[in-house]
Amino acid sequence: DRIIASGATREDDIADASIRPKRLDEYLGQVPVREQMSIYIEAAKRRGEALDHVLIFGPPGLGKTTLSHVIANELGVNLRVTSGPVIEKAGDLAALLTNLQPHDVLFVDEIHRLSPVVEEVLYPAMEDFQIDIMIGEGPAARSIKLDLPPFTLIGATTRAGLLTAPLRDRFGIVQRLEFYSAEELTRIVRRSAQILGIACEAEGAGEIARRSRGTPRIANRLLRRVRDFAQVRAEGHIDREVADAAMKMLKVDPEGFDELDRRLLNLIIENFDGGPVGVESMAAALSEERGTLEDVIEPYLIQQGFLVRTARGRMATRKAYLHLGLKPRTAARD
Ligand code: ADP
Repeated sequence: DRIIASGATREDDIADASIRPKRLDEYLGQVPVREQMSIYIEAAKRRGEALDHVLIFGPPGLGKTTLSHVIANELGVNLRVTSGPVIEKAGDLAALLTNLQPHDVLFVDEIHRLSPVVEEVLYPAMEDFQIDIMIGEGPAARSIKLDLPPFTLIGATTRAGLLTAPLRDRFGIVQRLEFYSAEELTRIVRRSAQILGIACEAEGAGEIARRSRGTPRIANRLLRRVRDFAQVRAEGHIDREVADAAMKMLKVDPEGFDELDRRLLNLIIENFDGGPVGVESMAAALSEERGTLEDVIEPYLIQQGFLVRTARGRMATRKAYLHLGLKPRTAARD
């Protein structure tokens, strides 16, 4: 329920239908990724081949799903979307693969959550465009080989380290998405505002961008909430003051932190003397899952230098003390 949660809500999904970029030149930021992908896509098209399999990793909301839509669009092929936990049996995967047209893209979100049995079926499919499936049951059961159309698998995951080595090795292209700069997010907010018909000044967009934790999904969501505020309080016009007042109401501070971030930093500082503290102890004290802490909350705090990961656990930095208006411990790291 966090306004700054990086996972998608139903409302995000609905908005995505209109604001999700469809072409590479609308996919803002991520410059190295965009440059590389445009070359790989062009080369595959010229050779008349399926694009090599692509692994995209990065925290939630940075544009993994969007990039796979863009890739399929630029290739001029269909995109099938599924996710690791949804493919329960080998037969589910076989059904998906045998229904693809040549050069189609199959997008598997959360690919690290595929079951080992399904993963086994995927290896020959990725490598030789073939699968072995079992027909019949008991003593009459036999395995047959099926040829598949050449296709592109795009796998997405929040952390590359979650993948098994044999699966990772089968991706020819690996792309890592980075948090977006405030300038890039400002452009994303302005683009979305224009599509949604929201009057938003550059400074208002900048204010939203700065509090969006480097994440387009959060930027787009905050834009919608600020629009609500602007419609009721400011005749629908978003400038810096309106954006700022809306953020205060939403309890999102100037760093884009909410209660949970502040509680986490406070916990380390007040209860663990600034750390180091193990992730399990933090998860227990905050009643959050370890995975949520590691994948969703920590990455931005670490990237922004409020938290450091050490071999002995997490430590709050001087920046964290100062942000909370506390006096830094002499040993606190920069
Ligand atoms: P992920 O799959 O990594 O969780 P999504 O691809 O669903 O993230 O992106 C979340 C939102 O951010 C979408 O609404 C999309 O419109 C927007 N978005 C993502 N990347 C970009 C980008 N590079 N340029 C503009 N908008 C983006």
